Amino acid sequence: MNLLDTRPPFAGINGEIPPEFKTLSTPCYLMDEAVLQHNAEVLGALQKRTGCKVLLAQKAFSNYDLYPIFAPHLVGTEASGLFEARLGAEEMPGGEVHVFCAAYREDEMDELLRYADHIVFNSPRQLQKFAPKAKAAGKSVGLRINPECSTQEGHEIYDPCAPGSRLGTTRAQWDKAVQEDAHLPELLDGLHFHTLCEQDADALEATLNAVASTFGDLLPKMQWLNFGGGHHITRPDYDMETLERCIRRAQQDWNVTVYLEPGEACALNAGYLLSRVLDVVRNGETTIAILDASAACHMPDVIEMPYRPPLLGAGEPGEKPYMVRLAGPTCLAGDVIGDYSFDAVPAVGDLLVFGDMAIYTTCKNNTFNGMPLPGIYSRTAGGDIRKLASFGYRDFKYRLGSP
Ligand SMILES: *Cc1c(COP(=O)(O)O)cnc(C)c1O
Repeated sequence: MNLLDTRPPFAGINGEIPPEFKTLSTPCYLMDEAVLQHNAEVLGALQKRTGCKVLLAQKAFSNYDLYPIFAPHLVGTEASGLFEARLGAEEMPGGEVHVFCAAYREDEMDELLRYADHIVFNSPRQLQKFAPKAKAAGKSVGLRINPECSTQEGHEIYDPCAPGSRLGTTRAQWDKAVQEDAHLPELLDGLHFHTLCEQDADALEATLNAVASTFGDLLPKMQWLNFGGGHHITRPDYDMETLERCIRRAQQDWNVTVYLEPGEACALNAGYLLSRVLDVVRNGETTIAILDASAACHMPDVIEMPYRPPLLGAGEPGEKPYMVRLAGPTCLAGDVIGDYSFDAVPAVGDLLVFGDMAIYTTCKNNTFNGMPLPGIYSRTAGGDIRKLASFGYRDFKYRLGSP
């Protein structure tokens, strides 16, 4: 199947609801193995062409039953802390485990060092505190830098270069720390930056220029440079040429191994959230369909980011004759998924398929309002469906006490 034949995010199902979707009870997530495979191959081919190393950032996607799709193509996993590091070590055996955390806990460091190959610190103080132990354990040690180069607008909560950011060490912070401890630079094997979010390679190029001018003098002494995540590499119109130029530039100018740790790009457009209509109400001019899936609980980025998720068969507001607001069943007034237009108002019981629902969903959902967690399924390239996980009352209750 050539996934570029039809438009993402529904390319994996050729733009129509496959009959097997109708057999599933809703709400549920359904991962599309053919799209995951496609993404893994795109990233693996990039590695082969350039000699860079690509990691799966588990923060975005951690349905480990599907890690075997990535394992042959990527070099390992990236983790945000102890549990993700352990998951990566357990579920992608033999892969590298890289960890970045804004601040590590003393009581977790010994266990973390059992799983991690690379450990990236956020501040000179954390580096000073933990790097000697990490190096004694044979680990590669890095510092996350803040190149102070904002390349995104309107998404301040996703901009680690925003004024006052806690993420990464600025050049001024580094120089001050080195003044106090001249041995700090000797602890470093590599540098790490992560400043992008769903961006193209032009933003990377601008960032790399900023990195070169703020930290370029340190880089020739480094073994590696990690470009972080936020690269939308598997999007069909992504500027791969510029990305490759950036990778080669770092390799040539500083003789470093380049790491990329995309989360989104690994599982972009590789999942669906299936939901059914529970009720349709009308308030004045507004028609509202209440679904069995909740934005607040099951697709939290819809509210946090915020954005309107793609819906199979629906149009932009005004594109089709019937405007309908889709909303969740919780008591939160703002549990609204978005306004869509339809050829006909959805009826109670209708199945709706949201797209691009593999990322930042199953690893980020919650049971607010006592909402059940959706089941998680996976669909093979041949259309077979297997269950990865299902949840019930106990999953809700166990998080709140000891029954
Ligand atoms: C979030 C994050 C990633 C992955 O980001 P995506 O936008 O999902 O590609 C990678 N590295 C770090 C340090 C992150 O915080």
